[in-house]
Amino acid sequence: MRTVAEHRAAVLALVDALPAERVAIGSALGRVLAEDVTAAVDLPGFDNSAMDGYAVRAADLVGAAAGAPVVLPVDGDVAAGDTARHVLAPGRTLRIMTGAPLPDGCDAVVPVEHTDGGAAQVAVRVAPVEGAHLRHRGDDVHAGSVVVRAGTRLGPGHVGLVSAANVAEVAVRRRPRVTVVSTGDELVPVGSTLEHGQIVDSNHLMLRALVEAAGAEVAAGVHLRDDADTVRAFLAAPDGDPDLVITSGGVSMGVYDTVKEVLTADGGVEFVKVAMRPGMPQGCGAVGASGLPVVTLPGNPVSSFVSFHVFVLPALRRMAGLDPDADGRFEAVAAEAWPTAPGRAEMTRVVEEDGRVRPSGGQRSHVLGALAGATALAMVPEDVARVEAGDTVVCLPLLGHHRGCG
Ligand code: AMP
Ligand code: MG
Repeated sequence: MRTVAEHRAAVLALVDALPAERVAIGSALGRVLAEDVTAAVDLPGFDNSAMDGYAVRAADLVGAAAGAPVVLPVDGDVAAGDTARHVLAPGRTLRIMTGAPLPDGCDAVVPVEHTDGGAAQVAVRVAPVEGAHLRHRGDDVHAGSVVVRAGTRLGPGHVGLVSAANVAEVAVRRRPRVTVVSTGDELVPVGSTLEHGQIVDSNHLMLRALVEAAGAEVAAGVHLRDDADTVRAFLAAPDGDPDLVITSGGVSMGVYDTVKEVLTADGGVEFVKVAMRPGMPQGCGAVGASGLPVVTLPGNPVSSFVSFHVFVLPALRRMAGLDPDADGRFEAVAAEAWPTAPGRAEMTRVVEEDGRVRPSGGQRSHVLGALAGATALAMVPEDVARVEAGDTVVCLPLLGHHRGCG
């Protein structure tokens, strides 16, 4: 039997980071930077006001107080977007808005709240200190400095920062393209009238959803019957020009386990038992002349779901340009005891709350009811036969339940 770490390494060895492409920053959400992004401009780009108020010279307002306001004539307004170069004359003021460029000679802004709000002249009730409520050019970011590092998955905040830095295009890794194949004569599309013995091909949509939730792209999705010729023909030239194929079903010890039958005969893919529960039967390898990576997942929906997180997700992360090991795993305390499989790593579906975890419900591999409620997998090592309340367990966040943007 293989350990989880060994099989994970075997899957990872099949893939590399995909090539980079340049895309508009507006289309780059969720993509992983292939190169550092360098600011094209200073941020702020010019000295400006942090408040709505009055641009002043602090020296003109020494001693201003509630009982002794200082009155200054107002020479006009400076609004955000005003591109004129204003000059503040000594002993005078300009009304200024948040984000508007500072007039020359101004060394403080008095918030409107500290004044009577006058338009022709203004009574100031508080003496400002020099530099009050000013934002200086380059305070935040200097032109030419790196604002986001290669290897970062771009979140909404990065999109804001990169575009503020006036960088229109970024180099990102191509999104991994994944073809999803489900196999089994018992499977029919969701919404069908089910004959006795038929079930919905739920892995099809679940695996598509997992691929998308992982930030990858579904290149194609098909259902194949348990027929060796059909499976062989498809895998020889899979639809969608994918970077990776994942299959579900047909990899255990049954007579109709066609994926295993075909790929064993054709070579390139190893079928193994992994010391893990759920998800013992696994396979991975490269098929065809192009050496297309294939990961064969077990058909049980829960096994498929767990195996995707444990084996496919690291591969997708590497292809996307991310560190496969930086997967957001975290330590939590078991809120209750539960039995686990001795000799196999148990991937318990758990709900995490405030650093404590408990099983989300029934843990058998065909039990889907408890799956959707889980937020993480508690990865209990193979030498543990029972988790006790209070034990520390290492947990892998489930897709859609990331703590942040791994
Ligand atoms: P298999 O690995 O093909 O023997 O499948 C194991 C179990 O998972 C069987 O109970 C199958 O009916 C079920 N199963 C296989 N593929 C799917 C699928 N695509 N959707 C839902 N259940 C499946
Ligand atoms: Mg099957």
